[in-house]
Amino acid sequence: MSATTPREDAEVGGRPLPPGWAAPAHQPGADGLASTTFTERARENLARPFQRTAIANATDHTVEALHQRFAGTAHDDLREQARQIRAHAIANLPAYLEQWVDRAEARGTHVHFAADEAEARRIVAGICAERGVGRVVKSKSMASEEVSLNSALEGVGVDVVETDLGEFVVQAMGDRPSHVIAPILHRTQAEVHELFSAMAGEELPDDPEALTGFAREGLRHAFLTADAGISGGNFLIAETGEVAMVTNEGNGRLTTSLPRTHIALVGIEKMLPRRTDLAVLLPLLTGHGTGQQITTYVSVVGGPRAAGEPDGPEEMHVVLLDAGRSALLGGEFEEALHCIRCGACQNVCPVYRQVGGHAYGWVYGGPIGAVLTPLFRGQADGGELSHATTLCGACDDICPVKIPLHDLLLGLRRRRVAEDAAPLGERLAFRAWGLAWSHPLAYRATTGVARAGLAVLARDGVVSRRVPGLTRWTATRDLVLGRRR
Ligand code: SF4
Repeated sequence: MSATTPREDAEVGGRPLPPGWAAPAHQPGADGLASTTFTERARENLARPFQRTAIANATDHTVEALHQRFAGTAHDDLREQARQIRAHAIANLPAYLEQWVDRAEARGTHVHFAADEAEARRIVAGICAERGVGRVVKSKSMASEEVSLNSALEGVGVDVVETDLGEFVVQAMGDRPSHVIAPILHRTQAEVHELFSAMAGEELPDDPEALTGFAREGLRHAFLTADAGISGGNFLIAETGEVAMVTNEGNGRLTTSLPRTHIALVGIEKMLPRRTDLAVLLPLLTGHGTGQQITTYVSVVGGPRAAGEPDGPEEMHVVLLDAGRSALLGGEFEEALHCIRCGACQNVCPVYRQVGGHAYGWVYGGPIGAVLTPLFRGQADGGELSHATTLCGACDDICPVKIPLHDLLLGLRRRRVAEDAAPLGERLAFRAWGLAWSHPLAYRATTGVARAGLAVLARDGVVSRRVPGLTRWTATRDLVLGRRR
């Protein structure tokens, strides 16, 4: 197929798509986080009460399913095994990468290295241009969100169709994913019904099966007319040169096997030494991600179609994405690379559950977003996110690979202080506070004044009015000074 103008011929089930589809999708990362603050974004999201309900319902359900999934099993032993596998893989990443590349090339896979986001975009766009790709189908890939791949491809005349149902909705709405596993966690069925009815040009039944059927019809058409399929990858397997993927919708398999060319964009840290490591990591990824024993599809892709095979792509390319990862090796924040993107830390985070993923401003939300964003994007863009946490430790407790998110967040706060990245007023206030409380006399004097002042404002040991200097806290909560009588 020759290259086509992006979206000119975009259609679902043979019908042209409405203007909403043709609007350029909002590309996270392209805006620059520094243009808005976490507080501004959080406030905007808190003003969407349906979103808060949707997130609470979905995350409660997933966490409950997770606990049921592992009830009565040696869950902690499995987590410890997973931690050791991930720690070993990351500590020896250069050697395993070399091994993976050797094995993958021996299988006929073309391997590319992308040092940063721009290079990843250039490589994928180049592969498409050389092959006259007019349309790509994509299965879910957070790495492609990181590099803003869709807009880059659209910019060079490639029509991009997201095929994961949630991503399909997000793309059609001109929205962006808000959770690593469940992209439309923040959306309601009513919104999807309205969207699909507009796309169909008729009122569709407000029923999940009918709505999914509508999307399926259009997506089948996209699969059959696509020149290339782009996927992510959950794991790279060093001993075999394969890419492992988990999906629940079958779109991953169609993306990787139906079009002539398959391109996988995968972060270098997704490495596992052996295929048997999947026996430990997969149950944890799926159990912590969705509460399932295993996802509907587990695909292990190992190169293009071989002689005598009935299906598969003619060419397979893997783009290994660095974009800030190798800089973490051997450093204080190396453990952030152990993440397997299950989303469990988001589900239990009291901050994420209120403000949702978009408040974090980039691709990843919740505790892992607060860690990865400043590490991958820099302090100026994401440094403030280390404060978007209560430090309750719920994320540490639920992480399947035991990443000490709480410690990493504290480390990022320390780095922010060391780099003087916090606002001047905040820095001066904390410096004065630190100085005062280093001296017993000053400590006693200041706490004595605070105690006396609050005692005047309190009734029955509780301050229920706004306290100057503490208004952010006392505007919505009582300040309890002692036990209520
Ligand atoms: S940090 Fe842990 S809990 Fe959070 S997404 Fe990564 S693996 Fe899952």
